[in-house]
Amino acid sequence: MNLFPRRPGPVAGPGRRDDGLGRRWPAFAGAACLLLAATAACAAGPARAQPAPAAAPAPAQAADTRIVFPASVSQGALVFGKVPPGSRVEYRGRVLRTTGYGTVVLGVGRDEAGPLRVQVTTPAGRGESVDIAVTPRDWPLERVNGVPPKTVDPPPEIAARIQREQAQVTAARDRDDDRADFAQPFQWPVQGRISGRFGNARVYNGRPGAGHSGMDIAAPAGTPVKAPAAGVVTFAAPGLYLTGGTLLLDHGHGVSSNFLHLSRIDVKVGDRVQAGQVIGAVGATGRATGPHLHWGMNWFDVRVDPLLVLERGK
Ligand SMILES: [Zn+2]
Repeated sequence: MNLFPRRPGPVAGPGRRDDGLGRRWPAFAGAACLLLAATAACAAGPARAQPAPAAAPAPAQAADTRIVFPASVSQGALVFGKVPPGSRVEYRGRVLRTTGYGTVVLGVGRDEAGPLRVQVTTPAGRGESVDIAVTPRDWPLERVNGVPPKTVDPPPEIAARIQREQAQVTAARDRDDDRADFAQPFQWPVQGRISGRFGNARVYNGRPGAGHSGMDIAAPAGTPVKAPAAGVVTFAAPGLYLTGGTLLLDHGHGVSSNFLHLSRIDVKVGDRVQAGQVIGAVGATGRATGPHLHWGMNWFDVRVDPLLVLERGK
């Protein structure tokens, strides 16, 4: 992958904070978040429009024999479905885990066009194909000019380091654990103003960059970061080049959270943490433009919007 045209480079000196409009100039996030973002497939494949049994709208009284998925979902959503326990569920070539209750989860990329097609085979042998429409969202454009041109072409040793670090993070996100922590309501890891939204497109010196891979929450350095849901720590490193203090929490079934730019990490790989447990502290490590928490969420390599996950729990 070619990370570099998207990176704004180091930002030095004072005036590195928000401009009061919820933007940061130069914004680090489109760059720093690339470490976690660059492998996101986002599955923007062509929509297949062939006829299939319509997805049933979710009735509250769904019996165990029902197959229930939402009829439409937003780009960036984490989607829950219900199938008869013991069903085989396939999506995009992956066999999805099901909980004992028959719950399945999948992620919808920022650039996904849909429809999504889920293949379900019940224990009784009944096969059903479910199509889910995808509702597009607006992705506001943020232009960042005046980025030093030399910073878009880092020296080879830095490029190699970034790739090494990214490979480690990607491996951690590939985990497919049987725990169903993802099915619990999520809570804000820190309280604060949203200073960067998921998906916003960034253009550096006129050159398009990646969409913002997560959600930035403004908070003072040292603010405790709490686990938004239970999970297992799958990655913890204090000083990655782009993302600084970096922590990954696995919530099961491929759903994970990442927390970037931490000033402190209070847990270690393999730790089981509970929702609300302090796992670290807000910082500005890596290529940050000021203290804030970047919280990203993934379904395997597909980035999803933490804000939608929070709203689901309401
Ligand atoms: Zn960010």
